[in-house]
Amino acid sequence: MRERINIDGVSVSPDHFIGGKRVSSPETFETRCPFEWERKLADVSLGDAGIARQAVQAATDAFPAWAALSPKERAVYLHRLADLIEANRDALGLVECLDMAMLLESLQLRVISRAALNFRNYADLAIEYQERVWSSKGTKNRVIRMPAGPALIITPWNAPFMLSTWKCAPALAAGNTVILKPADWSPLSACLLGDLIAEADFPAGVFNIVQGGAELGNALTSDPDIKRISFTGSIPTARVIGRNAAENIVPFTAELGGKSALLVFEDADIDAAAKKAAGQYDDSGQVCMAGSRLIVQESVKARFLERFHAYTDQHVLGDSRKSETTVSAMIHPIHVERVLGFIDRARASGDEIVRGGKRWKEGANWVEPTLIVPKGNESEVVQNEVFGPVLTFQTFTDEAEGVALANSTVYGLSGIIYTGDAERAERVGRQVRGGTVWVNTFLVRDLTAPFGGIGVSGLGREGGHYALDFHSDLKTLQILEGSC
Ligand code: NAD
Repeated sequence: MRERINIDGVSVSPDHFIGGKRVSSPETFETRCPFEWERKLADVSLGDAGIARQAVQAATDAFPAWAALSPKERAVYLHRLADLIEANRDALGLVECLDMAMLLESLQLRVISRAALNFRNYADLAIEYQERVWSSKGTKNRVIRMPAGPALIITPWNAPFMLSTWKCAPALAAGNTVILKPADWSPLSACLLGDLIAEADFPAGVFNIVQGGAELGNALTSDPDIKRISFTGSIPTARVIGRNAAENIVPFTAELGGKSALLVFEDADIDAAAKKAAGQYDDSGQVCMAGSRLIVQESVKARFLERFHAYTDQHVLGDSRKSETTVSAMIHPIHVERVLGFIDRARASGDEIVRGGKRWKEGANWVEPTLIVPKGNESEVVQNEVFGPVLTFQTFTDEAEGVALANSTVYGLSGIIYTGDAERAERVGRQVRGGTVWVNTFLVRDLTAPFGGIGVSGLGREGGHYALDFHSDLKTLQILEGSC
């Protein structure tokens, strides 16, 4: 077992959490603070195929007893974990902030509580489930939800704690045991989660956490004892995982990238729309649902841009622990280079860089909030997810053209519409391609609603009963009426 590390007063184990115990790997990977890149936070155990097998075995062994509990009995553990997450909000928020650079204020005021709510919500939803019972063709029919087996949850580096808990909670509530593999660029909040799982007294092997990258992920997704795979991340990785899932005929959900439109009509509250557009630079644009394509009606272009620039000018880049900071650092220098590459190619191909377009400071992990007017709709920066503080700006003259532009990429994760016309809100809301479309707001979520992408933005739906169904094998039991 590796020694625990003290990170600004928070004790963190850099090891895996398997079968209720800390397990080390001989090799490690390092994690650094994005806004103080010279600061190494930890060397974390690097999992391999052996660790994958150990975790799957632990989850397999624990499955029958966990599956045999009623949803009410499982809910006791989930609520206990939620209570512990709330009680450790400051420590979790601080470590996530240092490891991933999400703004501390937002973590401690909202995000960590939302993670606790993920467990509460699914605990309650699993209890609420009513088996459908009906008579037909002389039989009594009943739909039974059965736990499926060990579930593998793979998460990306952005919003790691919120996404991990959002995806693990339904699996556990449905009666599956879980192996969580977070991303190797932001592993530390999951390290803390291991301690809370132990403190909540989950039976050994019910909830396991393993650390590492593609090698570990590949070994896990290939293991035939895994019965569900729930993935959030990039499209290329989804293709690899999908092939492994197909080999073992294992149901697989994928929450993938986006290139969402923020569509502004002339009848909208232009100031509110411009403020929301400038807000897309929050978290340095490392948000899958970000409205990264601004598509504005020509008649309000000047008014919108004046307000947009005024709001963007107010952004403060800096240390994520400070309350005045609004744009957090980007996760890793490799990602900064990736984003700068998009901007360089845009410039070289004749797109116009209207603001920003370069690294904030020599060596810093920030790119200035950047706005690009593309040469045409086919420009790479319009058609591909950048996942950074880069927005494109296009205009349209009538509703049909606006909708066509909004729907002109292969993605379909979400959409944002600003309009003051209730009929247009309904009409355009139905037409814009996306698993979630917001009108005059953004990122407001009801946890019982389905969540997912259309097109290459994803496969399957999470959220509410949709996630519980995914994590269950549904059985129809038919008994001949009057026969017993
Ligand atoms: P990524 O695909 O590189 O990594 C995601 C996870 O997959 C990590 O844990 C990684 O270690 C693991 N992984 C990598 N190779 C693997 C393999 N061969 N087998 C199994 N696992 C493997 O994605 P990322 O860069 O961490 O995340 C950014 C992407 O995630 C963006 O495209 C973003 O839009 C997307 N995202 C989507 C949502 C959503 O809800 N739709 C939410 C957040 C992020």
